[in-house]
Amino acid sequence: MKRFKPIASAFTALAILAACDTAPITGRSQLILVGDQQVQALGLQAYNQMKQEMPRSNDRALDRRVQEVGKRIAAISPQPDWDWEFTLFDNDSPNAFALPGGKVGVNTGLFKVAKNDDQLAAVMGHEVAHAIARHGNERMSQGILAQGGVAAAGIATGGDQLTTIGAVLASQYLFTLPNSRVQESEADHIGLLYMAEAGYDPRSAVDLWRNMEAAGAGRQLEFLSTHPSPGNRIARLQELMPEALAVYQPR
Ligand SMILES: [Zn+2]
Repeated sequence: MKRFKPIASAFTALAILAACDTAPITGRSQLILVGDQQVQALGLQAYNQMKQEMPRSNDRALDRRVQEVGKRIAAISPQPDWDWEFTLFDNDSPNAFALPGGKVGVNTGLFKVAKNDDQLAAVMGHEVAHAIARHGNERMSQGILAQGGVAAAGIATGGDQLTTIGAVLASQYLFTLPNSRVQESEADHIGLLYMAEAGYDPRSAVDLWRNMEAAGAGRQLEFLSTHPSPGNRIARLQELMPEALAVYQPR
């Protein structure tokens, strides 16, 4: 066991540094063990693969709306210079997702519940918030911590560069673990403020979730997620509404 000691102390040092990371707006402490560049490279790789394997929509009008709403929200985010991408997939399920570095996917089926651009902005705000708050990195980091030794060895030997072993393990957590409930409600909070700042009526977020609930789709948003029930979500959004209305500038 003795030979593991240096690794353990290197790992502890990383974990302590990581405790200094905080999410935007909520100020929640986050465990971030992986370099953002590495996580973003994994996100880009997965996104490119999805764009090749999943059918894209030919609906120009819907695509224009996705581009416009997405870009307006990205522009007021703390990372307007990221290479943001918004892709409309031809898929009937009312779903959307975000990958690290600002790679967002929206299904055509989302328009069954997002009845106007304000409601669309509620979803886009939520997805932009996941990317900005580095929820993918956090999930990978939690997975690495849970794995302990093997991944820690990968990190420790590679400095802040993950070794191959570490990267493979980490990417499994990025793409197989759902967003946690904490991340989901944080994305709701941050997203609500972002949509309002970008000029979309934050009260539409409540309408969107009512539509989701009516469509029986409230738990499905995002391919991998454990979303709170629409009822809880709406109650929380209503609590946050005064904060959002205070920054709302109608476009
Ligand atoms: Zn989410």
